[in-house]
Amino acid sequence: MTTFEHITLGQRVLFGAGRSAQNVAAEVSRLGASRVMVIAAEFERPMAETATGQIGPALWWDEVIMHVPVEVAERARAAAEEESIDLLVCVGGGSTTGLAKAIALTTGIPIVAVPTTYAGSEATNVWGMTEDRTKTTGIDDKVLPVTVVYDAEFTRSLPVELSVSSGLNALAHCIDSLWAPRADPINQALALEGSRALAAGLAGVTADPQDMTAREETLHGAYLAAMSFASAGSGLHHKICHVLGGTFNLPHAQTHATVLPYVLAFNAPAVPELAQRLAIALGRPDTGGQDPARAAVEALNTLRHTLGAPTALADCGFTAEGIPEAVERVLKAAPASNPVTATEENITDLLTAALEGTTPTPGLAVPAQSR
Ligand code: NAD
Repeated sequence: MTTFEHITLGQRVLFGAGRSAQNVAAEVSRLGASRVMVIAAEFERPMAETATGQIGPALWWDEVIMHVPVEVAERARAAAEEESIDLLVCVGGGSTTGLAKAIALTTGIPIVAVPTTYAGSEATNVWGMTEDRTKTTGIDDKVLPVTVVYDAEFTRSLPVELSVSSGLNALAHCIDSLWAPRADPINQALALEGSRALAAGLAGVTADPQDMTAREETLHGAYLAAMSFASAGSGLHHKICHVLGGTFNLPHAQTHATVLPYVLAFNAPAVPELAQRLAIALGRPDTGGQDPARAAVEALNTLRHTLGAPTALADCGFTAEGIPEAVERVLKAAPASNPVTATEENITDLLTAALEGTTPTPGLAVPAQSR
């Protein structure tokens, strides 16, 4: 018998290339807002001017810093209150959305998000802020944007390398959702369709960065990825990357892109049915009786090769000396529900393989007795 409790976050999505200005104006009117604060980093300003071209903003804010330092959030909150802001419109990547969430967290002002990367923060109720070089995250429905306005025209300017790392970060949301603590048949379905859309879309974007059909497919895949992640929670992959990013300061998206196939190789043998469906989603419609775990890992390896994705943690600045501390921290954070029990031995094997860029292979890091 299958039993689960699934929560779907309530949010309006308006999707359409070249339609952001009319969609943002329609939402401002629907929400009855009269004092709009537009949040966009300096680089994102031209996109924000386009998206808000049919409204008259009361305040522009361009102080956006990655991981949202608390003092930046405090300044933006004070400005919003001083100007009696009643709606936040954020136009930009995950850092810009993150600042809007920090303001909403304490003021309750609603957000309309216009994302320009594949980070997916716009579809989650997770906020993050940094103080004294420590990042704190939390969950609060106040920070979930009431509306997301997707305009794939804004992703045209994302360079291929940034598209690939941001897109593989989204794919990590999907794959980790398959076995995350609150995984269920609904968020697994979102994750598998998100994987399909991201794999197909990213291959198209890499072949031709101006291919708008591919850009749109990647963008809606990134939304499905974030929805599945928000619902299923953080799995082993995200726990490992959180340790590598937080303790060893490795770059966010490249670390996700590198570690993902090793976690898949680690878990896939224990979830053959999901591995089979993932292999199909990643472009292997006929696995020809092949072991499903091997088919899924090979499909991901092929995709990463096509996209020119990073392959070794050594290239991200990680070294073998860091492995014992990383293993200790990962073991404290690893979800008990992970399909393969994490041990000192198998996480050491996984991190060693990822450090060196050894070809990810199922069984590489499964417990010794299962080999
Ligand atoms: P980012 O927002 O820092 O953007 C990266 C760079 O790309 C910036 O320099 C930005 O100006 C530029 N950029 C943005 N859009 C562009 C475009 N269309 N064309 C060219 N350049 C563009 O990075 P990100 O990866 O989007 O977001 C990362 C942040 O989001 C991290 O802090 C991460 O923790 C957070 N995040 C949060 C959640 C959540 O649920 N809370 C989910 C995913 C990511």
